[in-house]
Amino acid sequence: MSRSQCERLFEEAQSLIPGGVNSPVRAFKSVGQTPIFAARGEGAYIWDADGKKYTDYIGSWGPLILGHAYAPVVDAVCEAAHEGTSFGLPTAMEVEMARLITELVKGVEMVRMVSSGTEAVLSAIRAARGFTGREMVVKFEGCYHGHSDSMLVKAGSGLATAGQPDSAGVPANTAAATLTCRYNDLEEIKKIFAAHKDEIAAVIVEPVGANMGVVPPAPGFLEGLREITAANGALLIFDEVITGFRLSINCASGYFGVTPDLWTFGKIIGGGLPVGAYGGRRDVMSMVAPLGPVYQAGTLSGNPVAMAAGFAALTALRENPLIYRELAARGERLRAGLDKIFKKYGVAACVQGIESLATIFFTAGPVKSYDEAKKSDTARYARFWSGMAARGILMAPSQFEALFLCAAHSDEDIEYFLVCADEVAGSEGF
Ligand code: PMP
Repeated sequence: MSRSQCERLFEEAQSLIPGGVNSPVRAFKSVGQTPIFAARGEGAYIWDADGKKYTDYIGSWGPLILGHAYAPVVDAVCEAAHEGTSFGLPTAMEVEMARLITELVKGVEMVRMVSSGTEAVLSAIRAARGFTGREMVVKFEGCYHGHSDSMLVKAGSGLATAGQPDSAGVPANTAAATLTCRYNDLEEIKKIFAAHKDEIAAVIVEPVGANMGVVPPAPGFLEGLREITAANGALLIFDEVITGFRLSINCASGYFGVTPDLWTFGKIIGGGLPVGAYGGRRDVMSMVAPLGPVYQAGTLSGNPVAMAAGFAALTALRENPLIYRELAARGERLRAGLDKIFKKYGVAACVQGIESLATIFFTAGPVKSYDEAKKSDTARYARFWSGMAARGILMAPSQFEALFLCAAHSDEDIEYFLVCADEVAGSEGF
């Protein structure tokens, strides 16, 4: 059989790029399949390098809440590019963007644009350390906050012991300043604070866990974090790289009514271009250079083309509040439909999510933390993924990711997803 274009590209890529990809998830390792090389996208659909069409539920891993090649974003990008792609000087659009974000997210008084979620997180943590004069940070198991040294840390050997590097190349000393806690476990975080009194600069959390599959916060969890951090002089950071402008136009903080001290953003805020941002309390953000002693900079920060894309995306979302209602309804329909299908076939599964996010865990559930997420039958997930991909449905190849709905997914798309899921779940050997 002749090889496909995707296979040819992957073979060549592997000799030139580590693993053939510029970000590990794209290698499709967990499903043992040749990566899909994307050629084109439009609305809810993409076409690969061989011309095969998929309904896309990866959505670039979150940014594309409006779908692929959304016309107002594409137009804004083209217009901005014609005026110059980068200046390294401030531009009016950066002021507009900052104004828009501070208007939309209650509690964000100042904001600094960067170029990725990773950069937003590492900068926010530096600001928190600079502001508090403390070094330790707490993160939750199963939450992902980008690939900065402090955040590539797994739990130590016991409660409240120093974190261990989760990647080669991360200094043990850096990892030791990061403590890890079980998601949704307020008792554990209380113990961590008791063991490290006056040492913790910040607690960083995904207000909805979306990097261990989707794990919503238990009632009272975010409120509890708010209380405990405030009582201990530590800052609370909401990493809203996924939830920001996805759960609602006012982000997860507005959605849940819990106000952290700092926020990190990415994905949707760039409309599909490389953008991140961090912001929050004026007194904390005033620590950032050139105003204060916490250094952080970027040649392409606030890039005019990227700002135009993000501004167009956020403006479209703000002007069309119905989008969120429709996304929520379709998300609910998808989750309820899947639930019914797995029950029908007696498959142990737990479909979780919120608004436009969903995950199918192949375990009875509910999944409230990473240890519970890890109980999912990942081999079964891989079989489900392959069955769906064969039918033209593209989901994240890893179990521990979210399924992203976008405004371009129609009721028919959801219906087709459910028809395919029924076929796969009912198939022999599944
Ligand atoms: N935080 C969260 C919650 C994320 O999901 C991600 C990326 N998936 C990041 C940070 C890192 O963002 P980036 O990949 O843009 O560096």
